[in-house]
Amino acid sequence: GRAQIGVTGLAVMGSNLARNLARHGHTVALHNRHADKTDRLIAEHGAEGDFVRTESIEEFVAALQKPRRALIMVKAGEPTDQVIEQLAAAMEPGDIIIDGGNALFTDTIRREHALRERGLHFVGAGVSGGEVGALEGPSIMPGGSVESYKSLGPLLESIAAQVDGTPCCTHIGPDGSGHFVKMVHNGIEYSDMQLIGEAYDLMRRVLGFDAGRIAQVFRDWNDTELESYLVEITAEVLDKADPQTGAPLVDVIVDAAEQKGTGRWTVKAALDLGVPVTGIAEAVFARALSGARAQRAATKGLAGGTLPTVAEALAGRGEAEFIEDIRRALYASKVIAYAQGFDEIKAGSDEHGWGVKPVDLATIWRGGCIIRARFLDRIREAYTSDPDLPSLVLDPFFRSAIEEGLDSWRRVVATAVRLGVPAPGFSSSLAYYDGLRAERLPAALTQGQRDYFGAHTYERVDASEGKKFHILWSEGGAEVEA
Ligand code: NDP
Repeated sequence: GRAQIGVTGLAVMGSNLARNLARHGHTVALHNRHADKTDRLIAEHGAEGDFVRTESIEEFVAALQKPRRALIMVKAGEPTDQVIEQLAAAMEPGDIIIDGGNALFTDTIRREHALRERGLHFVGAGVSGGEVGALEGPSIMPGGSVESYKSLGPLLESIAAQVDGTPCCTHIGPDGSGHFVKMVHNGIEYSDMQLIGEAYDLMRRVLGFDAGRIAQVFRDWNDTELESYLVEITAEVLDKADPQTGAPLVDVIVDAAEQKGTGRWTVKAALDLGVPVTGIAEAVFARALSGARAQRAATKGLAGGTLPTVAEALAGRGEAEFIEDIRRALYASKVIAYAQGFDEIKAGSDEHGWGVKPVDLATIWRGGCIIRARFLDRIREAYTSDPDLPSLVLDPFFRSAIEEGLDSWRRVVATAVRLGVPAPGFSSSLAYYDGLRAERLPAALTQGQRDYFGAHTYERVDASEGKKFHILWSEGGAEVEA
């Protein structure tokens, strides 16, 4: 065969990645279960590069140079397993199958191990950036063997987004690591979007701003350290007029957020690992609450208590000051979201022995992906100077950024609470931060209760770590060593 790589599954993501590869001078074999998509791609974009049209999987595999590299971009789940099986049956030891879909990392681990047994490389590659990213330069997070990356890496790096000459693609680690970090990336994206939504809601409901005015605030914020793709598109969405009525588009969109699952997966995996990703969890649950339309129809008029007026709640702070408070609260909460996401990646990496380097993610998320932001340069610096940072909030830059924003953060959360405007992202991240910095937590009481009803034992502040004690609660109340 003469193609350097093949793409099977030519819906929006697959065809855009295939075009991106061809535009970068690679010969690309094309395959789709139904050949109509293949033909459409060649008819519409055949001139962009060198494509090899194939109809059967056998023909597709035969079109590839050895070691063969075949990128699967089909529906995640069962369809991906079917296509893997078809490819594996036609391939030879040393060939590489890449799954660029949004696979669950545990599926990727399973598939990688099964294919390794058969002498094939399996690369689970997270791809972020949506349709446009796939065509113009995504952020790519490939897992799998080091050997497979030697052959595949240069191809992927050539089509990835570039920031300061560095490609937004690097080898993440073994088996499921690429899809795991892509999953957490999406979780952080959920959190970021929720926080932006809360900032918008506060301007709307507390300050009474309309969509256009809020768009201007986000545009201004995009010139600060908040500069990011999501803040930029927020301004554009808020500025958009409804083509049907001319009203702000955001006012005619039903306020029920949907989700495809990666945010939920991030939280499930975090629960299993015991990592508090409260910001991501609040974002997933906020979408769930918004989507419970029947329940909300029934609960809409529930009482809110005695609410102060806006002027009372703002306690003398003017509009501009409150906007600046919100900006700082957004920034601090965003630091927390990333800190929690990076904690989950570290825990996942430790659990599976992946050796994922946080600095790599901060580097390849700077471009191409949905959470790209100026901010990531700072995270990169943080993990460059200390790869073992116990928490992102301990990095000197982020530590002082949070300290400078703390009073604003508290004022925003307090104002939201007093006025009955839900801000679960802002408030839970502040609670998390206060938990991190607390001298003592009420967990001591929890341990006492657990010892009382379940003889679960406790450790003492004045005894060595690991030494367990128990109170004979119903037998006189003496303490015994467990
Ligand atoms: P879809 O998820 O809509 O999948 C459609 C493609 O899957 C078609 O090519 C279809 O072939 C093929 N397919 C479905 N079932 C089978 C099967 N049993 N056997 C063979 N082929 C099958 O396409 P997208 O382009 O939206 O996404 C592709 C992957 O990329 C998904 O895993 C998605 O989660 C992921 N992804 C998507 C992003 C996005 O923004 N859309 C962003 C990042 C990742 P046919 O034409 O013959 O029906």
